[in-house]
Amino acid sequence: MFALDVQQLTKTYRGGFQALKGIDLQVDEGDFFALLGPNGAGKSTFIGIVSSLVNKTTGQVRVFGNDQDADPEAVKSCIGLVPQEFNFNLFLPVIEVVLNQAGYYGIPRHEAKIRAERYLRQLDLWDRRNQEMRRLSGGMKRRLMIARALVHQPRLLILDEPTAGVDIEIRRSMWSFLRDLNAEGTTIILTTHYLEEAESLCRNIAIINQGRIAERTSISALLNKL
Ligand code: ADP
Ligand code: ADP
Repeated sequence: MFALDVQQLTKTYRGGFQALKGIDLQVDEGDFFALLGPNGAGKSTFIGIVSSLVNKTTGQVRVFGNDQDADPEAVKSCIGLVPQEFNFNLFLPVIEVVLNQAGYYGIPRHEAKIRAERYLRQLDLWDRRNQEMRRLSGGMKRRLMIARALVHQPRLLILDEPTAGVDIEIRRSMWSFLRDLNAEGTTIILTTHYLEEAESLCRNIAIINQGRIAERTSISALLNKL
């Protein structure tokens, strides 16, 4: 089964700009997949649609066999999204950011607390659990967004430019966390414009440019060509 199966996906924004021009893309269950492309290529639009935050114009999105139009709730429950921007809830304590997200998915409070502790410890944020989110550094906020995205234990984790602007040490620790998560069975798709990040983490890659998939290959095949 594919973790993600996208057919003929298009997106035209209000005002008429066509950000996606017919995307076909399949990602295998268990894959660690990179969507690489320059700014404005359509990466955020693509993952916004897959994560049900942006409406598509035409096409079909299936996540672990669930059709997004027929069963939107099943699709949402399979996906955890780590967005690029997070300027919400800045006055909320770190742990509440995770617990609120658990509430959104209807996870009982006692179970939510167990998971929040597990992920905040793994991501080195447990000592900060009572601090307001606005007190965190950029790298800490991103790690918090990962904990938040994992609280409903999604089978597919999608990250939008997860390490942009994060210093090298924190980046390495995030990479190692994501590698372990993938090894335990979570399918991961990330967007990046660093080839180095894709190279270090991912098995397969699609290059997106001007709303189209320019290339879909394995990292090793891509590196052999360069
Ligand atoms: P990327 O994530 O690859 O940088 P985006 O998906 O953010 O690309 O954007 C793709 C194109 O769509 C860009 O030209 C961008 O300006 C445009 N775009 C993004 N969001 C909107 C919007 N809400 N309304 C109109 N155009 C948009
Ligand atoms: P609703 O449509 O039920 O009002 P929203 O779309 O406003 O829900 O989302 C509520 C919160 O959940 C927001 O913080 C949003 O970013 C987040 N969210 C929505 N879909 C997902 C998802 N698939 N993964 C992670 N967070 C999500």
